[in-house]
Amino acid sequence: MILRRLLPLALAGLLIAACAGGPPDQTETRATPGRQCDATGEDFAGDVELARCLTERFWARRFQESGGTYTPVDRFVAYAGDDGPDCGGQPSVPNNAFYCPSGHFIAYDARWLEAMYNRMGDGAVYVVIPHEFGHAVQAQLAGDFQFNVQRELQADCYAGATLSGLIQEGMIKADDGDDTELLANLAAAGDPTDAWWAPDAHGTPAQRQTSFVEGYQRGTGTC
Ligand SMILES: [Zn+2]
Repeated sequence: MILRRLLPLALAGLLIAACAGGPPDQTETRATPGRQCDATGEDFAGDVELARCLTERFWARRFQESGGTYTPVDRFVAYAGDDGPDCGGQPSVPNNAFYCPSGHFIAYDARWLEAMYNRMGDGAVYVVIPHEFGHAVQAQLAGDFQFNVQRELQADCYAGATLSGLIQEGMIKADDGDDTELLANLAAAGDPTDAWWAPDAHGTPAQRQTSFVEGYQRGTGTC
């Protein structure tokens, strides 16, 4: 699979989207990171499956290296618009992707994600999915977040680390200029004001870029 392009503008709204969320399921697959990731990544469904599989395999290895065991998400759910699963009593919303801590699952609006994929290339999938798995990883570590923005910036850091790790392992390939585009998009997805205490804060453009780059350049340990 080849990372065609790590998204042009307009990732705005993408990573800002809420990251909470739980169960009428449309499509779901069990996570099985131990197996080979044999999806081809030649179309949207293939890229989503590959991104999920590679990201979980990446984390399974990182946990293993530090003597731990990564627990795959229980479910990986595709929904359409407003028919998504709720999470801990909270309904899901259209045009979003989220990790649900109470159910240990990830769900995404497939139409929304596919529209971005068609518009911007498969980079959209390789940012959104690793970011949400970053939250699934946080749930397994003894993180102590005082503010939501800390959780979100760490997920950006994890996404950067995952992407560079997969590129280094030769699992995915980035094109020239992809990183620049990605940074521009992370900036576009930043909060308009530095209201870091807000419960839905994701970080300013500069903060999101910095977190992603730190993870990208130095790996998960820096996150
Ligand atoms: Zn998030």
